[in-house]
Amino acid sequence: MVKKATKKEINEIKTLFLEHYKDAKTELNYSNDFELLIAIMLSAQCTDKRVNLITPALFKKYPTPQSLQDAPLEDIKELIKTCSFFNNKATNLKAMAQMVCEKFDGKIPLDREELKNLPGVGQKTANVLLIESQGANFIAVDTHVFRVSHRLGLSNSNTPLKTEEDLTKLFKDNLFTLHQAMVLFGRYICKAINPKCHECFLSHLCKSKISFKA
Ligand code: SF4
Repeated sequence: MVKKATKKEINEIKTLFLEHYKDAKTELNYSNDFELLIAIMLSAQCTDKRVNLITPALFKKYPTPQSLQDAPLEDIKELIKTCSFFNNKATNLKAMAQMVCEKFDGKIPLDREELKNLPGVGQKTANVLLIESQGANFIAVDTHVFRVSHRLGLSNSNTPLKTEEDLTKLFKDNLFTLHQAMVLFGRYICKAINPKCHECFLSHLCKSKISFKA
């Protein structure tokens, strides 16, 4: 198990993340909450790049929850077929649009519990939507945030939800920016395979870099 970071180290990690990623934002393309929710749902187990290739045609053909709820399921599948788990995702997108129309008058709810009641929307998706749309003080733990947290000794928890609790307690504020920072840091520097430890601005604080030495 990786050694835990001290309070002083946690503060320094937080400061350095905020310094290096002060303007960080999502790489998903969207222009409203409906498109944002769809992009986040598609991005599970799929890259943002791939999602950005898929969404223009989908948003053009089905620009509102009303149009998506009436869309033939097979057509949604065809439009998103290059996305991982496209069968399940198409079913969830249609069911999500139906519930948004029936329960929320066609508007994406901006409450975490209400969001989590939508088909295919869990805590991570709800948090990311509220972070992006509202600048909410939440952190969402995806594969990148989970890996980075553990390598830096910020969490030893074995589930994303518990890791989210740990990070929320440790960092307290600026979670919106820290979330974006940790996603981008994990995607481009602290990668799952061959992390770029030699160019990492956190290497002096890292609890895992020894494992990646040649
Ligand atoms: S030193 Fe390497 S393993 Fe540690 S945080 Fe940086 S990139 Fe990740």
